[in-house]
Amino acid sequence: MSETIPLAGVIGRPIAHSRSPALHAHWLKTYRIAGYYVPLDVGQSDLADVLAMLPRMGFVGVNITIPHKESALHLSNFVSDRAALIGAANTLIFRDDGSIQADNTDGYGFIANLRQNAPQWDATAGPAAVLGAGGAARAVVSALIQEGAPEIRLANRSRARADGLKSDFGGRVQVYEWVRAAEMLDGAATVVNTTSLGMTGKPELGVRLDALGAHATVCDLVYTPLRTGFLQRAEAMGCTTVDGLGMLLHQAAPGFERWFGTRPSVDDSARAAVLGQ
Ligand code: NDP
Repeated sequence: MSETIPLAGVIGRPIAHSRSPALHAHWLKTYRIAGYYVPLDVGQSDLADVLAMLPRMGFVGVNITIPHKESALHLSNFVSDRAALIGAANTLIFRDDGSIQADNTDGYGFIANLRQNAPQWDATAGPAAVLGAGGAARAVVSALIQEGAPEIRLANRSRARADGLKSDFGGRVQVYEWVRAAEMLDGAATVVNTTSLGMTGKPELGVRLDALGAHATVCDLVYTPLRTGFLQRAEAMGCTTVDGLGMLLHQAAPGFERWFGTRPSVDDSARAAVLGQ
């Protein structure tokens, strides 16, 4: 009798920078699970073949990252409601019959991070201001709507992308011009940077914070560095701030549970594993 060792991984290109293998290796070790999680460097033209082949090689599922999140959704047989709403998949589950189930846990990870690190945060307390309208913004906006944010103010450098989100997510979304983004912070209860500005090697997010009230909870999806200039400025205004690392950890937990059968803990040791400490 041969024992099957479950395999999982993350598909993207480039993929060498991904911290997901370190996180899943930490959880596999913590829960003494015989399994492996590997980085898979796959180009666009090979994605369909790779996804067809992996289940036959003992893979139980994969995470999907840039640039394959949209394509993976279309290559799946079953799509969760939240993945369909966001229009992208970040977690695939390979079923025993060879079919693929697609999910998107980014919105869940965003909310779980806020709940853990800003327990007093309440989406219904006032308008949310979201900077950026890329893939991550779609997950954030859909999660904020689900949590009951009364209004979502959205600004993006490319206006058309913000308008696209408004037409997909409806009347609660109000689009602001990028150059007037500072105005949407007035009275906001939740502020989220979903742009890549502030990442190591990128320009800072320069939006003025004068209108920001100290009651606001401010979250940055960027996690390299952990304390972005944007978060430091918000902290100096007296706001509660939450970094993006917790979202990365929480979005990974549902996939791990589905593939390996144990719900992993998002704690300091998981944070340290991702930070390479
Ligand atoms: P996308 O490429 O889909 O979107 C990038 C966003 O950043 C767009 O809104 C884009 O605006 C904006 N942007 C980029 N450069 C500039 C600039 N110079 N000036 C103004 N705006 C700019 O990426 P994602 O949405 O997937 O990711 C966005 C960020 O969120 C990344 O830093 C990513 O690492 C992080 N992220 C973190 C996660 C976590 O778990 N913590 C999960 C997912 C993402 P435009 O449309 O005009 O180009």
